[in-house]
Amino acid sequence: VDNGSWSALAHEGAKSLGLSVPDGAWTGLKWFSDELLRWNRRVNLTAITEPREVLEKHVLDSLAVLPVLGEARSLLDLGAGAGLPGIPLALARQELQVTLVDAVAKKVGFLKHALAQLGLAGRARGVHARAEGAPMKEGLPVAEVVVSRAFMDVGAWLQLARPYVAPGGCVLAMVSRTEGLDVEALAAQAGCVLAETRAFELPWSRAPRAVLRFVPNG
Ligand code: SAH
Repeated sequence: VDNGSWSALAHEGAKSLGLSVPDGAWTGLKWFSDELLRWNRRVNLTAITEPREVLEKHVLDSLAVLPVLGEARSLLDLGAGAGLPGIPLALARQELQVTLVDAVAKKVGFLKHALAQLGLAGRARGVHARAEGAPMKEGLPVAEVVVSRAFMDVGAWLQLARPYVAPGGCVLAMVSRTEGLDVEALAAQAGCVLAETRAFELPWSRAPRAVLRFVPNG
């Protein structure tokens, strides 16, 4: 996909999702998408190999988190893999401090490379660690927004994520569907309250997605 048609598709997709993405973010988002596929030939980062699908299912799906970020200044992406959703969010939100964590060294190698090349190293970092619920011991920060995608089911995720939430912060879950999930019960079990649900469809495949925002109680 050449830069012009990629950019047209990206704008169309963002518009259909109702997202406001600063113009200056798109160059980095395109570079990230290309680099992900380039590295994917030797490091397994994604099952997706089509540029248009990378745009829809990785970049736009990640950017769809933007409307629920509020005024947050710090974000922790656990099980970030190739940097999803954390890298697109860092590119779209200049003021956000981002920590991306993965347990697999090769993936963190890609994260560090991408952050350096994107000029994000000053406010975003990749950390090789296994998150097990003890941020201090693991050398991980707490953050105002704790997010993950394709990492754990919602119930287990809420239990794991809670200790990483800074005072006044929240946990986000990115899910493909909410039917059959008793989200409120899962939240209660983890000592959280469901504060917001943003359901949407990906622009071309029409695949259903939702971002759920949970706030710890007490
Ligand atoms: N968020 C990315 C990757 C999802 S795959 C995406 O949406 O594409 C899940 C990732 O979690 C893998 O890269 C795996 O290495 C990582 N992982 C699994 N358990 C982990 C743990 N306890 N702490 C940190 N990363 C973990």
